[in-house]
Amino acid sequence: MDKKKRILTGIRPTGALHLGHYVGALETWLEFQDSYESFFLIADYQALGDNFDDIDKITDSVRQVAIDWLSVGLDPNKSNFVIQSYVPEHAELTMLLSFVTPLGMLERNPTLKSEIDQLAVEKRTVGFFNYPMSQVADILLPRADLVPVGEDQAPHIEMTREVVRKFNRIFEPIFSEPGIKIGRVPRLKGTDGGNKMSKSKGNVIELRFSEDQVNKAVMSMYTDPNRLKATDPGTVEGNPVFEYHDAFNDDKEKVEDFKTRYREGKVGDVEVKKDLAIAINNFLRPIREKRDYYEKNPTLVEEALMAGTDNARKIADETMRMVRSAMKIDSYTSRW
Ligand code: ATP
Ligand code: MG
Repeated sequence: MDKKKRILTGIRPTGALHLGHYVGALETWLEFQDSYESFFLIADYQALGDNFDDIDKITDSVRQVAIDWLSVGLDPNKSNFVIQSYVPEHAELTMLLSFVTPLGMLERNPTLKSEIDQLAVEKRTVGFFNYPMSQVADILLPRADLVPVGEDQAPHIEMTREVVRKFNRIFEPIFSEPGIKIGRVPRLKGTDGGNKMSKSKGNVIELRFSEDQVNKAVMSMYTDPNRLKATDPGTVEGNPVFEYHDAFNDDKEKVEDFKTRYREGKVGDVEVKKDLAIAINNFLRPIREKRDYYEKNPTLVEEALMAGTDNARKIADETMRMVRSAMKIDSYTSRW
């Protein structure tokens, strides 16, 4: 049998996971976990970038993210759950690759640029600026073939490919260029109408939300701001309420009917939202039940993390030997 190809992808432990993670990333991970050897990284080094002053949040979020993964059906018997800082080779490879990476690659990165613009000045650290570099190292450490992510991550994968070409040219061709797989919904909007649902923006519906929390979040969602009453014709395009209907309501006919009536001013926002809350709750119910189970069985969560991290360590050791040898920094005296 052919050796399975490898996936590396990850999430920052900066909060519990939300619907955007599901449709942008987790759904693809689930689809691929049988056919690929997968490494799912809890990127705690990367979280430090703008959360160095709130380690308690990172500590709690490492647990939340692992439970979210188990609750959606990622299976630690098939895939590896990895804590980034428990494999310090991530830091070593980040540092070594930074020597072949021109500053311009970071300066031009559009995702990094907009994230830095939104950060308070005291959070604009060297570490944060360098996080796409660490992501390149994360991907190359297990020598991944494919990176399934949301659309905002595309520039980082492109940068990985550039760094691979440069490293291989200067030293030895030990890396191959990874591909990218963007999820079903490349960038789910926030409940506030913002262009991305993000843990750090508080515009989220978390996978762990109760029925009540979902109802409240949906009923107060941003919708067409120009529509004052139910008889006004409304806009469907770019309206997050309809984007979520498309993503989470299985009754496609009903969704199309809502859209038609909304455009004609023949349905109220409340009716459309109530139905959306039902659809999201139906979607989240089985995830919630599994979550309850893992909350009650914390050793299963810990075991999943330790086993995956152990496997990642072995491959990291292998890769770093290759890297140090390619760079000829493994043994100076034997080369005299
Ligand atoms: P933070 O605000 O702390 O950066 P985040 O919500 O952006 O958190 P990340 O950990 O940065 O989450 O992203 C993890 C993965 O989920 C990435 O592949 C990212 O592209 C994807 N993702 C995050 N938010 C969305 C979204 N709203 N739509 C689609 N994919 C998303
Ligand atoms: Mg992010």
